[in-house]
Amino acid sequence: MTVTVPCNRCGKSVSLLEAREVPSLARGMMRYECFSCSRKPSFTSAASPAPSVRKKYYCQLCNYHFHAKQGICPYCNGVDGVIEGNVTVQDLL
Ligand SMILES: [Zn+2]
Ligand SMILES: [Zn+2]
Repeated sequence: MTVTVPCNRCGKSVSLLEAREVPSLARGMMRYECFSCSRKPSFTSAASPAPSVRKKYYCQLCNYHFHAKQGICPYCNGVDGVIEGNVTVQDLL
């Protein structure tokens, strides 16, 4: 069973596993961005304090590699088994 959420940027319905939550300025609202949109330069989060770099992570519980700004596994939505991997130049491109 796949849960889909609307991408806040492109409007497409994407799997929750392929979207990331983005904090919304509106209270009580949770927005999502698909991975392809979150890779694009953001025009809406110009107020974010620091440049965010996507890092390479590995969830030992799910045996799953993923790139994210935070070490939260998109599969189990947890941090318990997540370790940070090496970031190479290629990973940043
Ligand atoms: Zn999108
Ligand atoms: Zn996991």
